[in-house]
Amino acid sequence: MNAISITNLKKVYADGTEALKGINLDVDAGDFFALLGANGAGKTTIIGILTGLVIKTEGQAQILGLDVDKNGPVARRLIGVVPQEFNFNMFERVEDIVINQAGYFGIERKVAIKECERLLKKLEIWNKRDVPSRSLSGGMKRRLMIARALVNRPKLLILDEPTAGVDVELRHGMWEFLKELNREGTTILLTTHYLEEVEQMCRRAAIIKNGEIIKNDTVRSLLKLIDEETYIVQVDDVKKIKDLNIAHLKIVDDHTFEVELKKGDKLNDLILKMSQAGAAVTDIRPKGNRLEKLFLKILQQ
Ligand code: ATP
Repeated sequence: MNAISITNLKKVYADGTEALKGINLDVDAGDFFALLGANGAGKTTIIGILTGLVIKTEGQAQILGLDVDKNGPVARRLIGVVPQEFNFNMFERVEDIVINQAGYFGIERKVAIKECERLLKKLEIWNKRDVPSRSLSGGMKRRLMIARALVNRPKLLILDEPTAGVDVELRHGMWEFLKELNREGTTILLTTHYLEEVEQMCRRAAIIKNGEIIKNDTVRSLLKLIDEETYIVQVDDVKKIKDLNIAHLKIVDDHTFEVELKKGDKLNDLILKMSQAGAAVTDIRPKGNRLEKLFLKILQQ
C-alpha cells in the first residue's frame, strides 16, 4: 500500500498564485522520501494539503489509502507532522507539551507519561522536561516538535525542514534518529534544503519546480546522473604537480588544489601521477555535496 498517493493535485491560492500545477506522487509505505525544491516551489503546500491545513483546488490525495477529503480526521490520526514554524505554547512545560498532545489522541495519561519520557530521552531533551519551551535553544525546540509529533506512534511522519537551524553535530544525531525510526517501519516524508541530508537518509527524492515535479527517482539513480566531481587535494608542495598537465585543476594555495574529475577519470590514476612526480598527498576529499551540484543543474534546465 502507498503511504501517500497524490493524483493531479492543483492549488491556486486566493491571490491567484498557482502553487501546484497538477502533481502526481506516490510514496511507498516504509519509504524515506525527500521533497526538494527552491523556496516557493510548492513543498509546504503539498504538506499543507496532506495535513488538512490547506484546501486543495483540484485532484486527489490519500494517506495510507484514506482520502484526505472524505477521511481527513481518521487519516490525520495516522500521521505525525513537524511543521517549519514552532507552533507550541512557549509558556508550557516541555513535558506537558508532549503529554497534552497525547491527550488529543485519546492516549491514557499513564501511557503518555511513559511515552513522553522515552521520546524526550531519545531526543536528548529529557533534562529540559521541566522548563517552559521558550527557554529551549532552537535545536532543542526542533527536537521537541519531533517528540510531540511522534507521541501517537504515527505510521507516517512528515517533516518540513526538520534540521533548519540545527547545528552540524545535532543534525547528524537527528539523521541517526530518523533513520532508526524508518528502519522500525515509519514512513518518512521530508522537505529540506540540505542535500547532504537527502544523500545520507533518503531512498527516493522528488524535485519540484514552480509547482511541478520535474524528477522523481531513487537517490542512488539521481546520484548516477552526476558526471563530474570536484576534489580538494592537499599535497606537500603544489609546485611539484604544476607541470603535470592535470586537466581542470585550480590551485588554491601552496599546499592545496582543486581538481574536477569527469565520469571515467580515476582518482587512483591521479594519485599515482602525483606520487611519480614526487608529490606527497596528505589529504583528498570531495568538495561539497554531489547531490547539491546535480540539484542546481536540474533546476537550471
Ligand atoms: P520554502 O522552501 O520557502 O518553504 P515551498 O516549496 O514550501 O517553499 P510553498 O510555501 O508551498 O513553497 O509556496 C508555493 C507558492 O505558493 C509560493 O509562490 C508562495 O508564495 C505561494 N503561497 C504559499 N502560501 C500562500 C498563501 N497563503 N497565499 C498565497 N500564496 C501562497
